[in-house]
Amino acid sequence: MLIVKKFGGTSVGSPERIMNVAIRCVEDFKKGHDVVVVLSAMGKTTDELIELAHKVNPKPPKRELDMLMTTGEQISVAMMAMAMDSLGVRAVSLNAYQVAMHTTSRYGNARLKRIDSDRIRHELEDHKIVIVTGFQGINKYDDYTTLGRGGSDTTAVALAAALHADACEIYTDVDGVYTCDPRIVKSARKLKEITYDEMLELATLGAGVLHNRSVEMAKKYGVTLVVRSSLNYSEGTLVKEDTKVERMLISGVAVDKNADRISVIGLKDQPGVAFRLFDVLAKANVNVDMILQSIGRDGTKDISFTCDDGAIDDAIKALEANKERLGYKSLDTLEDVAKVSIVGAGMMSHPGVAAKMFEALYNAGININMISTSEIRVTVLIREKEAERAAEAIHDLFDLGD
Ligand code: ASP
Ligand code: MG
Repeated sequence: MLIVKKFGGTSVGSPERIMNVAIRCVEDFKKGHDVVVVLSAMGKTTDELIELAHKVNPKPPKRELDMLMTTGEQISVAMMAMAMDSLGVRAVSLNAYQVAMHTTSRYGNARLKRIDSDRIRHELEDHKIVIVTGFQGINKYDDYTTLGRGGSDTTAVALAAALHADACEIYTDVDGVYTCDPRIVKSARKLKEITYDEMLELATLGAGVLHNRSVEMAKKYGVTLVVRSSLNYSEGTLVKEDTKVERMLISGVAVDKNADRISVIGLKDQPGVAFRLFDVLAKANVNVDMILQSIGRDGTKDISFTCDDGAIDDAIKALEANKERLGYKSLDTLEDVAKVSIVGAGMMSHPGVAAKMFEALYNAGININMISTSEIRVTVLIREKEAERAAEAIHDLFDLGD
């Protein structure tokens, strides 16, 4: 069996943890498996490197920032190979250049295009554990690129696809994917399985367990993922195309406090207004999420939208700079709001799921500010201080807990 095992920053955060991971990988190797290990940078290394860069330049050139950030993963893989050597096992560390992991040219947010698997195969045939740097690639100029924060998951899935691996295991500091963040809802339960689509929605909602591009790629290439803890041997959660074991209406509740709402009041009720508004925001690089347009009255209408709280200043600046062109009366912002979502493939075939969510909120006396939906998700915007209570009420009414 060929197994790709990916370990995140916390899992390799100290020499002791690296040793612990080495032991775990060697166990599989000694069972006769081919083992490819993908690693993130140790602990908070990537954050520290970015901070370091900003000490000499508030706007570091993107190429140089990638050159710097890629050193983090290189430390991890070298340390891991040394740890395995100390256990008497042959191991070799490889960076993106040595493997040849080809990406698009865009620094800081490159996409993997092609992986040469020859070197890795050759090392595996030579009975070595192969340890590969996550998060990085090389572009057509032979320069280092990075795949965006959290990108090591994507490296692991891409390698699993390229090597036709039998298993792709993503090790993290949680036991798997839960019905809700256990810090928010105490009765949250670990899921045995979840579909790619559900996981994608959760990843996009900031559930933080997997990089969303890694889930997209797993879906595209049919790579079944296992999300599990590096700190214990509990079974983890399977991420795959279709789940059979648990056919539940919804799989989980997600809370995202990282949202703000802006209402643009008194826009003209005529064609082209929405286009101009969101064009201004797009040009200011503001990612808009939920959108609500009021019914026109007296020739004017309001448009409200949410964005990440990191983007609100840029959004306001862009809107104020274009006030005359857009022709609105005023802006109204709400910063203490949160998004609470339910996600579940089951809702495609079952009516009444959204109603049940609203019922839970009504019972808890929580007012809904905005609503948006996809095929397998319903999101509401509510007051941030009510987010925990909302999640708990929904989790309870859908009977998701233990
Ligand atoms: N070390 C990188 C980061 O912190 C990549 C990763 O951990 O997946 O974003
Ligand atoms: Mg991660």
